Amino acid sequence: MTLKEWRRVIEEALSKASIDNVHQEAKWLLTGALGYESSFIVLKPTYTPSETEINKIKVWLARRLQGEPLSRIKGVREFWSLPFQLNEHTLDPRPESEVLVEGVLKWIDNGPLDPWRILDLGTGSGCLLISLLHELPHATGMGIDLIDGALSIAQFNAALNKIESRARFQKGNWGETLEGQFDIIICNPPYIPLRDKDRLEKNVLQFDPSLALFGGEDGLDCYRILSKDIKRLLSPNGIAVLEMGYGQRNEIESLFKSAGYEILFILKDLAGIERGIGVK
Ligand code: GLN
Repeated sequence: MTLKEWRRVIEEALSKASIDNVHQEAKWLLTGALGYESSFIVLKPTYTPSETEINKIKVWLARRLQGEPLSRIKGVREFWSLPFQLNEHTLDPRPESEVLVEGVLKWIDNGPLDPWRILDLGTGSGCLLISLLHELPHATGMGIDLIDGALSIAQFNAALNKIESRARFQKGNWGETLEGQFDIIICNPPYIPLRDKDRLEKNVLQFDPSLALFGGEDGLDCYRILSKDIKRLLSPNGIAVLEMGYGQRNEIESLFKSAGYEILFILKDLAGIERGIGVK
């Protein structure tokens, strides 16, 4: 079978499994499995994959049909148009988290501070910190995570995106053992309420590490810790930008207000959901 024919077969299988966006997915799956640029399929539609390549396509397709996201199968995800390697210890970066990067960049546009010192709490794949360091060539950053397996992949991603000389990664429980001050603190804490666990999509539960997802019974445990931890870590003009979940804005806002913070801005994602909060 040619690539073009394989694409059709894959599209059919994906749509039978009720997977969306089958045309693109089939293209990504096919070229990903074969290790080609996605233009290859358009340029060489009559290419016939070898026996080994066919086996690879079949394995990838079987995994995708089980609900595994393509980014996990590939082991790499694009975030802020940069490549990020993933492993079983890291959350698969979500496109909506890009609003945090945007929010920080917008805010500092009118600020006088440079070079920025950035702290990323619960860095995971390092996507937030690395994207910011990529945009701010004079900034330096520190990524904290509880899990060694996440720290090593974040370090790898820093090198992959050529900002490793400005980034350090360190094991820690939020800001607990940290000293010093930072101009920008970013954090995408686990915020899904445990009580919503049963309603979560199967592939999220199955493929994302639960430590990266759940924030206690009401989802707000980490914000309680952060509202205590980050104050002493913020420089006098520093800001913290945190991601939040659907419908959590009011509770998070009042939590930070009563801990003595000023609310600077709220960030909405592309779906119009209040997704980020800026505080100082
Ligand atoms: N900072 C990483 C991200 O935004 C990991 C966040 C997490 O594991 N909750 O994807």
